[in-house]
Amino acid sequence: MALPIGHAVVGVATAAVVARATGTPGSPELWIGAVVASGVPDLDMIAYVLGYRSPKYHRNATHSLLVMAAMVAVGWLVLQALPVTLEAGVAWAWVAAFFSHPFLDIVTTGPSTAARGYGIPLFWPLSTKRFYTTSPIMETLDIQAVRLGARVLGRVAPRGLPSRGGVGGRAAPGGAGLVRRLAAALLGERDPGPDRLGE
Ligand SMILES: [Zn+2]
Repeated sequence: MALPIGHAVVGVATAAVVARATGTPGSPELWIGAVVASGVPDLDMIAYVLGYRSPKYHRNATHSLLVMAAMVAVGWLVLQALPVTLEAGVAWAWVAAFFSHPFLDIVTTGPSTAARGYGIPLFWPLSTKRFYTTSPIMETLDIQAVRLGARVLGRVAPRGLPSRGGVGGRAAPGGAGLVRRLAAALLGERDPGPDRLGE
């Protein structure tokens, strides 16, 4: 999966292309809105962090082009009802940043992630086909970065907080075990159990 910073960078770049095409000058509102819009589909991570760890919740509706189009339509209607004026070029740049999200997810999702059900369902609910690429860019780099971070944080976890082997062989809810679970959540993986990320 792409990390939030990746979505922000690609979202801003996409917004810049659209802004240039529409002759819209850059502004804080344009760039901040692009960063926010590029991350909106991953708000479904809230369900994931709350324990609903399944592609039924993460990388489902909010990553569908059809649902995203409906979200844009609702957003547009809400804007019409509010006493604000938004330059069309800015709005289109935000929309472009928003739609960059699932495509970046696709090019950073490889067969192993897709095999766990985390491909991108571009046409849900009309089709349950999930898209990914056989040669993902950055996926390995992202995983290595999170693994390294988990290891470093695991090393500096306070002594006395066991990092593995709690009751029933599961990691205790603290220290490195917790860090590994958090890293797994960031990666969009299922709960890996103790030490899987270190393999
Ligand atoms: Zn995503």
